Amino acid sequence: QTAELSGLPAGVAQHLHEEGIEELYPPQAEAVKAGVIDGESVVASVPTASGKTLIAELAMLAAIERGGKALYIVPLRALASEKKREFERFESFGVSVGVSTGNYDSDEEWLSNRDIVVATSEKVDSLVRNGASWIEELSCVVADEIHLVDDANRGPTLEVTLAKLRQLNRALQTVALSATVGNASEIAEWLDAELVHSEWRPIDLKTGVHYGSALHFDDGSQEEFAIESGENPTTALVSAALEDGGSSLVFVNSRRNAEAAARRLGNAVEDHLTDAERTELAELAEEVRGVSDSETSDDLADAIANGAAFHHAGLTREHRTLVEDAFRDRLIKAISATPTLAAGVNTPSRRVIVRDWQRYDGDAGGMKPLATLEVHQMMGRAGRPGLDPYGEALLLANNHDELDELFERYVWADPEPVRSKLATEPALRTHILATVASGFANSRAGLLEFLERTLYATQSTDPDRLENVTDRMLDYLERNGFLERDVSETQRVSDDRAESEASREEHIEATGIGHTVSRLYLDPMSAAEMVDGLCDSEQASALGLYHLVARTPDMWELYLRSGDREKYTEIAYEREAEFLGDMPTEFESERFEDWLSALKTASLLEDWASEVDEERITERYSIGPGDLRGKVETAQWLLNAAERLAVELDLGPEVVASISAARQRVEHGVGEELLGLTGVGNVGRKRARWLFEAGIETREELRNAEKSVVLGALRGREKTTETVLRNAGHPNPEVRDVEADESAAVEVE
Ligand code: ADP
Repeated sequence: QTAELSGLPAGVAQHLHEEGIEELYPPQAEAVKAGVIDGESVVASVPTASGKTLIAELAMLAAIERGGKALYIVPLRALASEKKREFERFESFGVSVGVSTGNYDSDEEWLSNRDIVVATSEKVDSLVRNGASWIEELSCVVADEIHLVDDANRGPTLEVTLAKLRQLNRALQTVALSATVGNASEIAEWLDAELVHSEWRPIDLKTGVHYGSALHFDDGSQEEFAIESGENPTTALVSAALEDGGSSLVFVNSRRNAEAAARRLGNAVEDHLTDAERTELAELAEEVRGVSDSETSDDLADAIANGAAFHHAGLTREHRTLVEDAFRDRLIKAISATPTLAAGVNTPSRRVIVRDWQRYDGDAGGMKPLATLEVHQMMGRAGRPGLDPYGEALLLANNHDELDELFERYVWADPEPVRSKLATEPALRTHILATVASGFANSRAGLLEFLERTLYATQSTDPDRLENVTDRMLDYLERNGFLERDVSETQRVSDDRAESEASREEHIEATGIGHTVSRLYLDPMSAAEMVDGLCDSEQASALGLYHLVARTPDMWELYLRSGDREKYTEIAYEREAEFLGDMPTEFESERFEDWLSALKTASLLEDWASEVDEERITERYSIGPGDLRGKVETAQWLLNAAERLAVELDLGPEVVASISAARQRVEHGVGEELLGLTGVGNVGRKRARWLFEAGIETREELRNAEKSVVLGALRGREKTTETVLRNAGHPNPEVRDVEADESAAVEVE
């Protein structure tokens, strides 16, 4: 019984009991037996929605009760706020919660008095690099979705960060939560943790494949499910679930497919709605429409009005939260989603349909089947405990061979083992510099010893590989002036056999600029590109700066579509003088292509900073509003870093000022002349332009302006006008109303 758990802050056990967690689920009980409440490290490899969070909560709360502090590492930024909200229910028991959301170059000292801190692995990495003092006070760290160490882009950061935290505090309790993977024992070995491995689920999950006129289930049973000719199988399955009172999640392989499917699903769902639901959905649709001016926003609103929605990374965070919440509240009946939704967001559903099990893969140059682990994660979203009798997850087969293949590949298969991706150049380039700069190693030998603490070392059968890549990256970092290596004379003159000995004893140190790069959280390759470009310029145009940051590996690429090559080649020649660094020639086809796609991103940023409408931009570059915001945020971060590099390199006040202006223009999406206004709260790009056109150009002028003038500029919005005036520093804009009205009246006379 949960009410009898001891070691937690007073009242918590009772509270858990009252909120319906009366008994521990079997895997939770196992974790408690393994000592998770007593400070033991535990790896819990348990199916989705089987109560992993509570295991983490018990560990963190007990650690806090012992006077400690806990860190919860999430894989996605969207999850940080979700987890924070969840943990805040313990605030009435004296447990404080904070989420780390600041810039990458901050140490967020304010978090030092929080009992639980929630952050992404990148954020924790940056906090360690910036020397946040409270990091050393941690007594418990939780790594959510640890199987993502397998991810080539983001996995190494999680891996290295955990190694660092465990080096800082050798007694650190590590609780790692994982989907059910075959080799969870290796993760446990790496983290010196007890393994809790379980296939138990709180609600039965039936998995199967629809083929022909039947559903074929994993237990060998079949259920008739005929589809009329011309009918769409996905829509039919969603409608059937709905007739039974259940919602559906449909996973598809592209954004466009998600949008198209939502439109179709809406038509099917619409018939099943009550009048009250229709009214509520219409309100929600309007709210969604208001989030951004874009076709994506309108399309989403149209689908929602019919009770369906799509979910993909092109949506803004606000969009996604509205969709997820309404689905959990059972107002939205069906969602078509790209796999982004499967990763962690808690949206259980009666039925899950994995409609597309193959996805286009640029590297492979064709369609590639999804990983078993990924499909299992999607399927695991089926079944809402307490609401559904069972969950049902289905794949769709078009022919008999496919039926067999889907059973073998997904229904009966075990997920792939998790493999460290640390021994790659981009990962080690970044992490070696950071490891040296933040003092975790100061020699080649020390570095290799540190790397021994990673999952890679636990798994590797080829230790030379890590050493080789490490040496290559040390050379790279030294060549670019980020690291210095110092081998003393006596060692250097030693004979051949001693040479390897000598190189192992060499001293490694980060240079000033190396430290800056590490703290700014830049990929050293991005920093090298920026340093190169900036040194080349006395003055830089905004486009030139946008292009510079757009061609670093820290900015994801926009693909060139048909017609783009010609279009951007033309712009490239027209504006050649503005670029920082040498433009490659058309004969260097790959470099030239990269240059053009960076130019496409730079043009997007320039459009945004020239007040082009969001709708025009999303259309012109075929992106969603969420992508636009993502680009803007990345550009802001990189330009801020460029500014700091320019200061560090002593490039002079003009260069620094031009970068700063370009950054602020991107931040607010305005021309330079509006920067005096956009710092005022509630003055966005549109309102700033209106005020400017009314002759108000700075905060000061706004503060002293006649209210009637401001009111006129702000399209007669009384409330907005007062808020804006107050934000500009006016003490009581309401009072001036009378005077302004009088003077307006006099003028009329
Ligand atoms: P996971 O992290 O494993 O995907 P969650 O921790 O989100 O799953 O748990 C899924 C749901 O189960 C949550 O709504 C949670 O409140 C509930 N839950 C967890 N443990 C118990 C329990 N012992 N008894 C009843 N409900 C529980």
